Amino acid sequence: MKIDEGVRLDRYTTIGTGGPAAALAQPVSLDELHEALAWAHERSLAVATIGLGSNLLVADEGVGAVVLKLAGELASAHTERELLVAGGGAANAVCLHRARAAGLGGFEFACAIPGTVGGGVWMNAGAYGSDWAAILVRALVVDEDGARWLTPAELGLRYRHSELRHGQVVARGEFRLEPRPAEEIKATVADLQRQRKAAQPTNKRTYGSVFKNPDHELSAGRMLEACGLKGYRIGGAQISPRHANFIENADGARTEDALGLMAEARRRANEQFGVVLEHEVVFLGDLELPPL
Ligand SMILES: Cc1cc2nc3c(=O)[nH]c(=O)nc-3n(C[C@H](O)[C@H](O)[C@H](O)COP(=O)(O)OP(=O)(O)OC[C@H]3O[C@@H](n4cnc5c(N)ncnc54)[C@H](O)[C@@H]3O)c2cc1C
Repeated sequence: MKIDEGVRLDRYTTIGTGGPAAALAQPVSLDELHEALAWAHERSLAVATIGLGSNLLVADEGVGAVVLKLAGELASAHTERELLVAGGGAANAVCLHRARAAGLGGFEFACAIPGTVGGGVWMNAGAYGSDWAAILVRALVVDEDGARWLTPAELGLRYRHSELRHGQVVARGEFRLEPRPAEEIKATVADLQRQRKAAQPTNKRTYGSVFKNPDHELSAGRMLEACGLKGYRIGGAQISPRHANFIENADGARTEDALGLMAEARRRANEQFGVVLEHEVVFLGDLELPPL
């Protein structure tokens, strides 16, 4: 198996920031995944899995862990009757393509989510009224103690949340879909992508929604817009002029810049609305927001 030490992770995150991992392992099968977990265990290193890095903020100083990026059969997808069976590292775009080719609908909402099956389980990813919890039958979760199939309830899936912890790897997922003509799927996807383009900075380097929507009449984006933060910049990172709940890598951004923007956004939302925003993006490495 390919294990590289000291690989920088900025190439593996959609925002394009982040320092090196202690090691990057790319297992292509369940056997190699067990091997990678044992390799980390022997060296007393923590383990974290990344998908397409589309919801990740990695410390500029790097991560003292073995980072796993699933490949080969752990990143492929196929259909079996009305089931979509996918590796944890399979890109949502690949899954959607397989589902459409088989005339299976239900995964269309994920066309707006540029991640993988495993990243979706971690966060119960969702959009346009659906989410992983609505279609996932079970996920194969592997850690150094072995492998277990878990249902959405056992995974604790709820709004942008699961009970998964680093060290637990989603190696496979099975989704229940339903027959739908490929042409209809194509039309729905085109429509959802049009809606996305109109509302979000889809052509910029971001990590998707920065904060979860609070329990408030305003969404996080509207709240930060009302705080006057659109276009606000620190270093190479800026709050998107198009949608205030996105941070863009405007020019050579560092994670430190994005973190500074998040701290300022939380401070202002708290000051103006009495709301404590909770971040949706996952932190990897020694990263922390200052207390309010
Ligand atoms: C432009 C844009 C739009 C977005 N829109 C949406 C949206 O509409 N809805 C939404 O929910 N999200 C959205 N996101 C965020 C992101 O795409 C999702 O959260 C996605 O599910 C993350 O998947 P990933 O594979 O990139 O995970 P990563 O960002 O690589 O990792 C995220 C978390 O998942 C864990 N993880 C990844 N793979 C595995 C695995 N195999 N096993 C165990 N843990 C794993 C990581 O350790 C990390 O904790 C958007 C992001 C961008 C950039």
